[in-house]
Formats: sequence, structure tokens, C-alpha cells
Amino acid sequence: MEKVVNLCKRRGFIFPSAEIYGGFRSTYDYGPLGVLMLRNVKGQWWRSMVQLRDDVVGIDAAILSSPRIWEASGHLATFTDPLVDCRRCKERWRADEIGDTCPNCGSHDLTEARAFNLMFKTFVGPVEDDASAAYLRPETAQGMFVNFLNVLQTSRKRPPFGIAQIGKSFRNEITPGNFVFRTREFEQMELEFFVPPDEGPKWLDYWCTERLNWYRDLGIADDKLRLRAHSPEELSHYSKGTYDVEFAFPWGWGELEGIANRTDYDLNAHSVQSGQRLEYFDQGSGERYVPHVIEPAAGATRAMMAFLLAAYDEDVVSGEKRTVLRLDQRLAPYQVAVLPLSRNESLRPLAREVLHLLQPHWMCDYDETQAIGRRYRRQDEIGTPWCVTVDFDSLEDRAVTIRERDSTEQVRVAVGALVDELGSRLS
Ligand code: ATP
Repeated sequence: MEKVVNLCKRRGFIFPSAEIYGGFRSTYDYGPLGVLMLRNVKGQWWRSMVQLRDDVVGIDAAILSSPRIWEASGHLATFTDPLVDCRRCKERWRADEIGDTCPNCGSHDLTEARAFNLMFKTFVGPVEDDASAAYLRPETAQGMFVNFLNVLQTSRKRPPFGIAQIGKSFRNEITPGNFVFRTREFEQMELEFFVPPDEGPKWLDYWCTERLNWYRDLGIADDKLRLRAHSPEELSHYSKGTYDVEFAFPWGWGELEGIANRTDYDLNAHSVQSGQRLEYFDQGSGERYVPHVIEPAAGATRAMMAFLLAAYDEDVVSGEKRTVLRLDQRLAPYQVAVLPLSRNESLRPLAREVLHLLQPHWMCDYDETQAIGRRYRRQDEIGTPWCVTVDFDSLEDRAVTIRERDSTEQVRVAVGALVDELGSRLS
């Protein structure tokens, strides 16, 4: 864990936010490599959930919206954690996490637990009163429910069909921590899949399999993943069945994604609150019903952390220890690095030509500083699957050396065949 956190900082994946001011309460900024990788995580999710399907469409709903949404969804009343204060050291804790002892000072002198709402409250407009109160969304899901009719009417879909969304969510977590595992601002990737009421259990199974396979396909080993059913006491009030996809984090199993059968709870709640009938009506058959909803809800930032932890490795190449991120090439920040053998001016024009040849196809890094061996190590450490080296022979034969990250094997390829050659290896 510490090695991955250090690598993230050192190489520009993730920085503590506002570091020049001493940081800010477990918030993080994504640097040049982190933003690329996070985009890839979200891109792969979108590809599998939206692009490769004809029964899911996407939306991008507002983060600030009507407080009536949170009244209907139950978040205003019940989206709370039990909070206790230590009377001796004044630290605050989640009561369900600590029992009767303060983890900071060991005191048993704790206040009674009280419900603490996790939503961030703000005011819209110049007046700070109850009528102008609004909340930063604590999940993206409600955006799909309140747009159910809009999407149904404009997309001409019928159940079973889904609405997908990726975006920021905010929760005033009492105890953020474990790097980006739990932060107050984070990114979610959620699907609300609307099905005929009697098909809920079938689709819950379907999505559990699909989602577990998504993590596997992107490189997380089977022994680091598991699907865990919620016990009856754990189930949310609206759920008729929930599974968590869990990852073996360094401190133990932790949730990557929750997959829940939310039944018709949300659509009914918004129907009551809004006075609009949120239901599916089939004009042909006259059939009318409130769909049930299966929700796979994942965290993009949390998934990125799991992919980094799963990919981190150290091995020995030519008697030298190296750090290598064995990231799937679809997630790696750069797919290709173009490296002139040395800083010699004569290599630069061809190296730049190769770079411009590859840039339309892949995210490329270009680096001409330091010895070539050190540059290979730098690319290994950030997970770049392919390095392309331009040397002095290249100027004569217009061929370059491509080197693979995991095996470090090298092959000579003609510049004219480079896009096809890398394309077949990166497909
Ligand atoms: P937890 O039990 O860890 O608080 P949750 O069950 O409340 O999570 P959900 O409401 O199901 O989480 O949210 C779906 C997903 O969003 C989670 O599986 C996780 O990947 C992500 N997520 C939730 N809260 C946070 C957070 N504070 N920081 C980062 N990711 C989060």
C-alpha cells in the first residue's frame, strides 16, 4: 500500500490536494498520469455498459438539483452515520466502527451516538435560508430515476433497459481514509437497469456475473476478487437482495461495487413526491407496470486504486531490481513511449516523426532524458506496455526497436509497419 501511494505521488498519478497549504482533509488531485488512467477506467466502464449494448443509454445529470429528490429518496431522513465524540481528546468517530473505546486516546468516555447526515448542504442564490438549501448529490443514481420518463420517451427503449451515468458524488464521510478508498469527493459509475417486476432476481444474477467479469477482464486475479451477499440485517430498506464485489485490499476485503435489487422503491417514491406516474406503459398491449431496478453501483476512483494495487509488482531484470505496473494496456496511462536512444540531435527528427505517427492511435509519452535503461525502468514503473526506441541504425534502415514491458523482449520493426504491428499487439 505504502509503495503504491508513494509511486502515485512520485510519478504524478495522485497528489494530496492543496499540498502547498498542508493538504486538505483526505482530498486528492489527479495528476498527469492519474487523469489518463482514471479516464481509461471510466472509458472501459462506458464501453462495456453503454457502447457494446443496445439496451443501455447514458445521461449526465446535474450535481446540484432539487432537494425534493433527496426527500423522496430518503437521503434527507436516513442517509446518516452514527457519530460519537471522545470527551477526552475531542476526536470524532463512526460509532459502528469503534465500539466503546476511542482509537486515538483509549478513553471510554464517549458521547451518545447521534445521527449525522452525510450530505453536503449549500445554498442556491444569494439568500442563506431554508428555502434556498440544496445538496451536493451523494450518489448519481437519483439522476436516472428522476429522468426515467424523459429517457423512456426519447430513447424508445422498453424494459429490460438501463440508464448509465458516470460522475462525481459527495459524502461528508466521518472517517475518510485508506488513500482514495474513502474520500468525501469521489467518482461513481452507476447503472439503473429497469426490468419487468418478476424478472428482478434473474437480472440481479446476470449483473453480478457481468460486473465480476469486468474486473477480471481488466486484469484483477480471481483470488483478489469475490462476490459477497449481504446478510438480511445488512440489506438497505429498499433492497430485495444485494451483492458486493469485493477486492482484497492490503487491509482486508473491501467493497468495489454494490449490486442491488432496488425493486420499485425509487420510482414509487418519486411518483408519490412528484405526483407524476413513473411507470412503463405498453400502448400495444395496454400493459402498465412500475419496473423493478437492478443497480450495479461502482466507484471509479476506488476501482482505479484496486487496479493499481493489483498491478504493482517488483521483479529482477538483468540482475537489477525493477518496479513494474502490470496494468492492462487499456488502463495504462500511456500505451506507447517513444524514446530516442540518446539526446543526439540527429535522432530527433525521426523520433518526432514516429511520435506523430503513433499519437492519433494511442496516448504516447516522449522522453529523451537520461540513459535508455533508466527510461525503460521509468516506463515500466508507470505501466507503459510498449517502448519504441529510435537508434542510429534507424536513420539508415528506417526500423525501430519495440520493447514489451512484462517480458522486456525486444523486436525490430520497420517504421512503415509500426502502426499495424503495435495495433495487433495492443488490440
Ligand atoms: P461504503 O460501505 O464503503 O461506505 P457504500 O455501500 O455506502 O460504501 P454505495 O452507496 O453502494 O457505497 O456506493 C457505490 C460505490 O461507490 C461503492 O462501492 C464505492 O466503490 C463508491 N464509493 C462510495 N462511497 C465512497 C467514498 N466515500 N469514496 C470513494 N468511493 C466511494
